[in-house]
Amino acid sequence: MDRGTTTTENAPMITAENVDLSNCDREQVQFSGAVQPHGAMLVLAEADLRVLQASANCATLLGTPAVDSLLGQPLEHALGQVVAHDLRDLLARPGTSFDSGPVHGLRAILASGVFDTFVHRVEGGLILELEIVRTEPAPLLDLYSDLNATVARLQAIRGLQAFFDLACGQLRGVTGYDRVMAYKFLDDGSGDVVAESAADGLESYVGLRYPASDIPAPARRLFALSCLRHLPDSDYVPVPLVPEFNPATNRPLDQSRALLRSVSVMYSGYLKNMGAHGTMVLPLMKEGSLWGLISCIHHSAPLHVSHERRMAAEFLAHMLSLMMAAKEDAETRDYRLQISGTIDHLVRSMIDEPVFHHGLTKRDPNVLNCLNATGAVLAIDGVLTLMGRTPSESQVRGLVDWLGTRGAGEPVFSTDRLPSLYPEASVFQATATGVLTVRLIPHRPDYVMWFRPEIEQTVQWAGNPDKPVETTEANGEILLSPRLSFALWKQSVRGRSDPWTNIELQGAADLRRAIVDIIIQQADALKQANRELSRSNVELDTFAYMASHDLKEPLRGINNYASFLLRGHAEQLGNDGREKLDTILRLTKHMEDLIESLLHYSRVGRLDLSLVATDLDVVVDEALMTLGSRINGVSVKIIRPRRLPTINCDRIRVREIFSNLVSNALKYNSGTDQRRIEIGWTSSDAIGTPTFYVRDNGIGIDPIQHRRIFEIFRRLHGRDAYGGGTGVGLTIVRRLAERHGGRVWVESALGQGSTFYFTLAPEAVPTI
Ligand code: ADP
Repeated sequence: MDRGTTTTENAPMITAENVDLSNCDREQVQFSGAVQPHGAMLVLAEADLRVLQASANCATLLGTPAVDSLLGQPLEHALGQVVAHDLRDLLARPGTSFDSGPVHGLRAILASGVFDTFVHRVEGGLILELEIVRTEPAPLLDLYSDLNATVARLQAIRGLQAFFDLACGQLRGVTGYDRVMAYKFLDDGSGDVVAESAADGLESYVGLRYPASDIPAPARRLFALSCLRHLPDSDYVPVPLVPEFNPATNRPLDQSRALLRSVSVMYSGYLKNMGAHGTMVLPLMKEGSLWGLISCIHHSAPLHVSHERRMAAEFLAHMLSLMMAAKEDAETRDYRLQISGTIDHLVRSMIDEPVFHHGLTKRDPNVLNCLNATGAVLAIDGVLTLMGRTPSESQVRGLVDWLGTRGAGEPVFSTDRLPSLYPEASVFQATATGVLTVRLIPHRPDYVMWFRPEIEQTVQWAGNPDKPVETTEANGEILLSPRLSFALWKQSVRGRSDPWTNIELQGAADLRRAIVDIIIQQADALKQANRELSRSNVELDTFAYMASHDLKEPLRGINNYASFLLRGHAEQLGNDGREKLDTILRLTKHMEDLIESLLHYSRVGRLDLSLVATDLDVVVDEALMTLGSRINGVSVKIIRPRRLPTINCDRIRVREIFSNLVSNALKYNSGTDQRRIEIGWTSSDAIGTPTFYVRDNGIGIDPIQHRRIFEIFRRLHGRDAYGGGTGVGLTIVRRLAERHGGRVWVESALGQGSTFYFTLAPEAVPTI
């Protein structure tokens, strides 16, 4: 650094080759070996208060004998009996610690002036500082009531910004500086001016960012250690300590906590270059670490702030630290509550909606209102619902695919710079540079996503951040000096959105858990309903079987008695009686048919399928053979365009399907044209499930009836029309197809013929 600065023993020399900003970080400012001239320092042996070191200005400022003659002498020799006595009293005061920083003692009234005294302990002695009292002390009562009022106002204020605005104004009032700024450290060590109070005519520094090197690491450590750093005149000439090394330790004096410590030449130079004559800096602490600083600057002239006012400022800074943490936490808490409140609403909506995920999109609030985002998407079962400002549907599908390639293990994913991870996003970065997604179920492309636009931030640096230190060469030596220019230095930050906070990530994870819970609940409810349905189906089948079985018995009796009457008593009955008995016989026959069909139907529900690889061409041959006589009796052309496949199915039941459909195709034909029946299959879905069909050129079916013909006992015609029937055939076809995991449907119109289709296995669900 400069030649007057001591470096640590092990630190490598700073040379022309290795000059960089980190050198500043190694400067050990607490060992500066000098004091500022608005006071004088005496280092005393604790046991007998003999002078070990003294600042070179003791004689001129305090009126002591020459510094050289003070060394090794008792304090009385330097400052007289009264001061020495007061100091001994102070040191003997019970309960006072001198280890954590300067303790204010009694004022020293010397021939040369009045001085505030401060004493604290360092390794190897006591540091006694005497600071000149320049101004009349402020009436303490005024200061006290001002402080009280200020604290009350600060406490009442809501929102961090208003809090800091007020704090800066109040601190300026207490201290009298031209400018008071609140300065917050960012993660990279740079600092933003977040609030300010400045005298009329001064340009504002709010929003300016100072490079990390402006307040190097050692300075930050010291700020956190001592509560206040006061520099009345940046143009001061440092006063050296005599001797340079503390004789008790044989090392430079550690002035970490000393009030008068001479600051780094880098720092005073820096202040001069920025036009600051007098400064005071107070740390803002949060949870034990340095959060930021209150920086006070006097531009118009040097400014010496009295001890009382400094104490008031220090007290205020303490209060700020305490209250600031609470205010920041309150803001965070409010947001967290807002998120969890919205999640509660969404959960209620999901429960109320028949399709649960409509509760996330169709009501107010919807999923977009959950977080501070400008757009949101719900992707579920391949269907996208876009809310607010989002990329286009096809761009979101691309993003979903890309998220899928990142693996299934990550339920929550977020970035504030999507284009740097997924270059395709650069075309829509105006709407979605920041993305937060939650994947609902592993391995499924079901997501909730939130988007944030790119903020093309312009960071206004207070000077070029890459060149905070300037080097000059003098007499072949490299000299570092603080940068001379504080001209505004703008830097554009692109491809970034506002970052997602931990609370938001937590909120997204909470919402995911709530959605998954609802999915699980609904799946459980569905399983339960299915179980109940299949149980009641079995009960119904058993009931139908028992009922029809028991009905057959009395029916047979009626039939027998009617036949017996007809045969044995035909003469007595006469024509009228015989006709009535014939009707009884016909009706009982029909009833028997119905009971038989019902029995058959209930059997279909209860039987176990025997699934084996079956050549369906052979099955159709067999079905046609069983219908043989009916086919041969009419003029019909059977067309089979191509061989049917071999599939896994129950041979006998599938034969029944074909024979029912072919039988209907034969029956429901007026016979005006030549009858044609086509039996074939197609396969068009994604997983190749075959669809079989039986097509006829018969009477056709009105589309209104298409669903109803599959209901039990449903006939569209008179009881005996088209050869009669019970209306159970198609119900059995439907049940058999469904037992195989397939379905049946018809395409037809009146007079246009009919085509019955069926499948014998589940079909592919249409994909995204
Ligand atoms: P059934 O043939 O015993 O009446 P189905 O359940 O097989 O009972 O058929 C129900 C009804 O559907 C029939 O009464 C008929 O009106 C109509 N139907 C069935 N197949 C055809 C077809 N191929 N063409 C026209 N109508 C049909």
